[in-house]
Amino acid sequence: MRINNEYDVAIVGAGVTGLTAAIRLVEIAQQQQKPIPRVVVLEADQEPGGRMRSQTLSNGLSINIGAHWGHGGLNNQFFRWAINRYDLTACPLDTAETRMTFSDHSCLDKGFMDHAMTRITTAWECFKRRQADQGDRSDLSLTSLVRKIDDLSTSLFAQYKSAVWMGVHDPAEVSMREFIEDPNGSGGLVIDGGNDVIIRSMIGELAQRNISVVMGSTVLSALHEPDGSSVHLRVRDEEYSDYKASQCLITTSVGVLKASAIDFDPPVFSALRPVLADLSMAQFNKVIVPLKTDFMKASGVEVDTHIAVLYSDHPNPYLVHMNPSGKPIATLFVSDKESRYVERLNQSDLLHWTRSVLTRVTPLQDFESHLDGDIVATKWGENPLVRGGYSILRPGGLRHDPISSGRITFAGEAFCASQEHSPSQVEGAYHSGRMAAESIFPKLG
Ligand SMILES: Cc1cc2nc3c(=O)[nH]c(=O)nc-3n(C[C@H](O)[C@H](O)[C@H](O)COP(=O)(O)OP(=O)(O)OC[C@H]3O[C@@H](n4cnc5c(N)ncnc54)[C@H](O)[C@@H]3O)c2cc1C
Repeated sequence: MRINNEYDVAIVGAGVTGLTAAIRLVEIAQQQQKPIPRVVVLEADQEPGGRMRSQTLSNGLSINIGAHWGHGGLNNQFFRWAINRYDLTACPLDTAETRMTFSDHSCLDKGFMDHAMTRITTAWECFKRRQADQGDRSDLSLTSLVRKIDDLSTSLFAQYKSAVWMGVHDPAEVSMREFIEDPNGSGGLVIDGGNDVIIRSMIGELAQRNISVVMGSTVLSALHEPDGSSVHLRVRDEEYSDYKASQCLITTSVGVLKASAIDFDPPVFSALRPVLADLSMAQFNKVIVPLKTDFMKASGVEVDTHIAVLYSDHPNPYLVHMNPSGKPIATLFVSDKESRYVERLNQSDLLHWTRSVLTRVTPLQDFESHLDGDIVATKWGENPLVRGGYSILRPGGLRHDPISSGRITFAGEAFCASQEHSPSQVEGAYHSGRMAAESIFPKLG
């Protein structure tokens, strides 16, 4: 057997988790005045960033095809870290303050929705207080909570929120704890130049430390050597390569782990089962529509508005974000079954579908004449390296911090137990990557 490379740590995946972990390993070594560990990051895709990456549209604009915004603005620890570390600039964004709703349900205007959210928050506080009196920290689903409120309109609002906020069709799948206990709030920010600016900066920093991110390297298996001294990774790249590492960090999504896309020996099923049992992947995609500048005037829609489109003849509600930029872009967020549907549409069907949603917002007759290039639908569900949007926790389930099985550690947006750190989001990925590095470093010789 030909082992190409021997490392202290092999990290699988160059998303936020993997890149953060690599940077943190270097940082700990520097803080403790120890040699910088030999680290390699293996990424199956041809582009780094995983679910936090940008793509250039046919009109030349760069857009975020995964993570859209840093919710909580500068309260968001990942975005704050990146902005300060790499001296980046960002533009504020608030999905609650700049929201319009188009619906045939008269009860879903902004005033009512604020009222419904207050009712849900109050009911949750009452529920929690009662549980706390009994020393209980149990969870319940959004459906169960709304049933206690017993109000038809609030349950309609819950249905809408579960789709546009949590990315699932049914509020019965929404854990109240995850729905409500994120402290970051509705404000947020977007990075000037797109999220790739952060990813490129992280990779640049690693390159300065001679840490390479090897693209086009699909890890097929991670096997402990028979004597237990290291992990042997079999990788498909241009041909096949073998890597050996003292510690291995896997940062792939819950969808990839559940599909058993990587072989482990000894099997890690018993370690992973308690984590994966409570989690699944929300199906979530974006349909990105480049528009000419006259669209805004012709449609009467303001730049940087968040538009909720909810009609009873459409299976899912949509959230449309008119991006703040010189040239407008409408981003339609699509969840659940509709998300799987848009992934399969060709350009002409996608145009038809987009027109049917956007004409609810603005009755433009000549929608096509306002387009400034091809419409792009992301394909996160079909992508075998991700298999969905992000992890969702079933009501009553538990998230765990990174876990280890022998010399293999698992981290990622799903492996972040604290609600305070926004699991399922980039902030959760960042925390998970840091925690993983902190647990791996002391194990290096
Ligand atoms: C449409 C969408 C919108 C979102 N919006 C937001 C938002 O507004 N704000 C927010 O905070 N979060 C948002 N998220 C969630 C956020 O993008 C993720 O939580 C975060 O990017 C996950 O990072 P990660 O590193 O844990 O996983 P990933 O980004 O999935 O990284 C894992 C990497 O592993 C690679 N990989 C997989 N298999 C292998 C293999 N066998 N060998 C080698 N490499 C492999 C993958 O290619 C990938 O690059 C959104 C996600 C989506 C899809």
